[in-house]
Amino acid sequence: MTPGNRRARLLRLAHEAARRRGHVLWPFRRQGRLGRAWGAACGLCGMAAWVTPHPLPNETEIAGEAVALPCQFNPTRRSTP
Ligand SMILES: [Zn+2]
Repeated sequence: MTPGNRRARLLRLAHEAARRRGHVLWPFRRQGRLGRAWGAACGLCGMAAWVTPHPLPNETEIAGEAVALPCQFNPTRRSTP
């Protein structure tokens, strides 16, 4: 698998994981400083999701509040915390 396909697959997985929790993510953008991570924030609540296609041993490929917690501002998803 090429690095590009790996990144695209991870970005899609993160996007789907966030959507299942009610988030509506903006498109992922490459993050400045080191350029290894890609990030996107929910347009409703602002929680972020992060994708690191080639993580260090102490990092995870997919991280962030948006893939772990439900969206509190999505009217179709009124789950209680
Ligand atoms: Zn949200």
